[in-house]
Amino acid sequence: MKIYKFGGASVRSAEGVANLCRIVKGEQGALFIVVSAMGKTTNALELVLEDFIGGNTASALDRLHEIEQYHREIMAGLLHQGEDFSADGISAGTNRVGALFSELGGLLAAASKRDDYDSWYDRIVSYGELISTTIVSGYLAAQGVPNRWLDMRRCFVTDSRHREANINVDRSTLLLRQAVDAFPEQVFVAQGFIGATPGGCPTTLGREGSDYSAAMAGYILGADSVTIWKDVEGVLNADPRLFSDAVHIPQLTYLDAIELAYSGAQVIHPKTIKPLQNKGIPLYVKPFLAPDHAGTLICGRIDTPIGVPILILKKDQVLLTIRSRDFSFVLEEKFATIFSLLERFRIKTNLIHNSAVNLSLCVDNSWHIDEAIEALREAGFDVMKAENMELLTVRGYTDELWRKYARGPQVFVRQATQSTVRVVRKRS
Ligand code: ASP
Ligand code: MG
Repeated sequence: MKIYKFGGASVRSAEGVANLCRIVKGEQGALFIVVSAMGKTTNALELVLEDFIGGNTASALDRLHEIEQYHREIMAGLLHQGEDFSADGISAGTNRVGALFSELGGLLAAASKRDDYDSWYDRIVSYGELISTTIVSGYLAAQGVPNRWLDMRRCFVTDSRHREANINVDRSTLLLRQAVDAFPEQVFVAQGFIGATPGGCPTTLGREGSDYSAAMAGYILGADSVTIWKDVEGVLNADPRLFSDAVHIPQLTYLDAIELAYSGAQVIHPKTIKPLQNKGIPLYVKPFLAPDHAGTLICGRIDTPIGVPILILKKDQVLLTIRSRDFSFVLEEKFATIFSLLERFRIKTNLIHNSAVNLSLCVDNSWHIDEAIEALREAGFDVMKAENMELLTVRGYTDELWRKYARGPQVFVRQATQSTVRVVRKRS
């Protein structure tokens, strides 16, 4: 069995879904397809949620209507794709999509209790994937690809860390295997990004979490390979929008890929690599619009060294400098207090730098940062906050790159090993 994952950009239009279908038709064996919400649907559903939580039901329903229109246009577009479609397949799909939108509308209109933001987030935002997969499954069937739509809320059991849930492998293994074994079809269509708690409450796995879904499905089903289809050539050594001379990397080790994802390369979700590495399952990142292109292979051992430096820029960072108010050194027991507070506010730390009296942390900017700072102050720390920062990681740096990026007044913190330098700098 192979796992194919299609992101939101790949299925943002009727042409995208038709292209997905062409790729799937070119495949012979068993296929497990993981699909994200179409285009920017997740962002749009987040706005629906904001209105809903704020009590603006009418506006939430308006926004929902727009989202429905967008999906209906895609379905209408699909009716005109290809020659041998069966209108029945499409219209069955259309009915199911209509039912999902009414379900969601009912939820928004009827609920009176709106207090638990994170669990409402998961209940509402998970519809993006339920809808996209319903369309994809209906279209594939209409194009003569028999397939089974799976409800991943019934296959992936997660913890109840809403919006950032972790998949429980043991409990999910049984359910997912049963689901796949129960059907004779060779092709399965599954939602990325979603699961449910043991009690059946929907959860989401963190933004861009569909890669993680694909990796876990690959792990559980013992897949031969996992392929992430993207709107780029594969993995590049830098983001071409930020560094003009970016080049394609044909092969990477799991370790390189983990480091890349952790440093902020957006091509792969950080939680994707470990499960694949554990079972030695190769991961391909391939261009959706050029399926014959080799893309990038990520595996245990590579034949050709990367050969170029890798530059990763993580934007929207905040630098916190923390000092103990009683002038004691910032030692281990203080670290424990600081990190458990940050964990409580879900602050993600990307770089840690300590001296005798200071602990500097480069963290993702988030809604909760000021609350976390307040809590740190109450716990006896002085905290300074520097905003508008970015974190640049250069793996395999040269003297030239060092001069270019690791020096100058905009650099607040610099950490270097023999091969890698990481710089927290003021946004340029
Ligand atoms: N649709 C979700 C998101 O946009 C998950 C994903 O795309 O991987 O974050
Ligand atoms: Mg997405």
